[in-house]
Amino acid sequence: MSSKVRVRFAPSPTGGLHLGGVRTVLYNYLFAKKYKGDFVLRVEDTDQTRFVANAEQYIYDCLAWCGLNPDESPALGGAFAPYKQSERKAAGMYQQYADQLVKDGHAYLAFDTPEELEAMRTNYKTEKNTNPQYDGTIRLKMRNSLSLTAKEVEDLLQQNTPFVIRIKMPENETVTFTDMVRGEVKFDTSLIDDKVLLKRDGMPTYHLAVVVDDYSMQITHAFRGEEWLPSAPVHLKLWEYLGWANDMPQWAHLPLILGSNGKLSKRDGAKYGFPVFAMDWNDNGEVVKGFKETGFLPEAFINILAMLGWNNGTEQEIFTLQQLIENFSIERVHSAGAKFDYEKAKWYNQEWIKSMDNETLAQRLLEFDANKYNRLDAAKLLTTIGLVKERCHLLTDFWLQLSYFFEHPTVYNIEAILPKWSSEKKDFFNLLVQKYNETATNDATTLETIFKALAIEKNIKPGELQLPLRIMLVGDKFGPNVFEIAATIGFAVANQRIANCLLLLPN
Ligand code: GLU
Repeated sequence: MSSKVRVRFAPSPTGGLHLGGVRTVLYNYLFAKKYKGDFVLRVEDTDQTRFVANAEQYIYDCLAWCGLNPDESPALGGAFAPYKQSERKAAGMYQQYADQLVKDGHAYLAFDTPEELEAMRTNYKTEKNTNPQYDGTIRLKMRNSLSLTAKEVEDLLQQNTPFVIRIKMPENETVTFTDMVRGEVKFDTSLIDDKVLLKRDGMPTYHLAVVVDDYSMQITHAFRGEEWLPSAPVHLKLWEYLGWANDMPQWAHLPLILGSNGKLSKRDGAKYGFPVFAMDWNDNGEVVKGFKETGFLPEAFINILAMLGWNNGTEQEIFTLQQLIENFSIERVHSAGAKFDYEKAKWYNQEWIKSMDNETLAQRLLEFDANKYNRLDAAKLLTTIGLVKERCHLLTDFWLQLSYFFEHPTVYNIEAILPKWSSEKKDFFNLLVQKYNETATNDATTLETIFKALAIEKNIKPGELQLPLRIMLVGDKFGPNVFEIAATIGFAVANQRIANCLLLLPN
């Protein structure tokens, strides 16, 4: 085994990337970078029936957005190219191993038709065995190179009869390995079926390809989702049968990310209105929402995922990618499922927004929604970002929080003013417009002083006047200090808005 740490993320490009998938990428990445190793992206596209257009590009885009850049990939190439299994198959990288397994008696040719396999499932169904599988108890009753004579096999091959190659799983053996997260894991091989290794079309299945590729790409460690745990004994036997047992990577099967009811699902997201994919994914016309488009910063997204199943043993919750690399340790990855809490996710994003400098945030907003932010005055955008960022959980919150700095509100919450409105207040605002015009200042403190002095003169509590002023400038009851707002939009615009609103209010 190479002494350098080499990990891989090996997605099948069949759809969008769930946040569990990105966490798998992240843990692989952190582990590799911590030990100055390589992070390999390998595309496992052997199942042509599950091919989905754009899914591969989507994976590249997600990794790029998250800043989890591979050292080797189909796009980048590398010393172990190609990195796509369909291309590796075309280069003849799997067949020889399937043949070797057959030759050594660890695999066999199976000629059963789909109809025969179907019949097997019904014919061998018993009360004890409700779900018969192609395994040690049944294989000799099927049509394969173990049950047929050499002559029969020869004839079938002569007639070009389609066949698959299956692993011959041993019976009554206990397969054991030490998972980096779960510790010792044991499997009874009698419960595992003879998985197909090479399909009728000569394509390897995932099981064969993953072992051959992890070996030939010199992978030393691999983090993957716990849904792959049941496949582990098949892989372990293949490593052994191919004579590579000493080179097998160390495994870490990561627990599920939980939603309200078991595994966090697309349905959970749709039901509660939160994203479960890294980026928007169009699933046959139905768009599954992504964290990116919802307004999460990639820094926050990574931070959230890191904490879903890991901590550094302290109370610290905010980590940069660099800090995660330095702090990450496999010992502190939990073996129990982590529950996803959307409110907490938004809190992380808000913390990241608050700590980000205004220039960077402006850049992020421009990238997020160019149509909206491109046309704004750049200097003013910076000022307003500084004024409102504390109030924003998501990038999408910014427009609501700062649009009134750039354009008049389209609606005014007059209802909120009316209950305490009076003709004295109307006079006050008419006079305020005059005063602001005379002073012609855009200094927040001066604007406030004028306002307060006039209120005292008119014998009205300034506090009672601030809410109407806010609604006149902002349209509603939110936003930072109202005189900061007036100063930023300028006294002339403020006056215009006060006047517009007064037209809507009774005398
Ligand atoms: N191709 C598998 C997937 O789609 C990879 C599993 C593994 O990491 O071994 O998730």
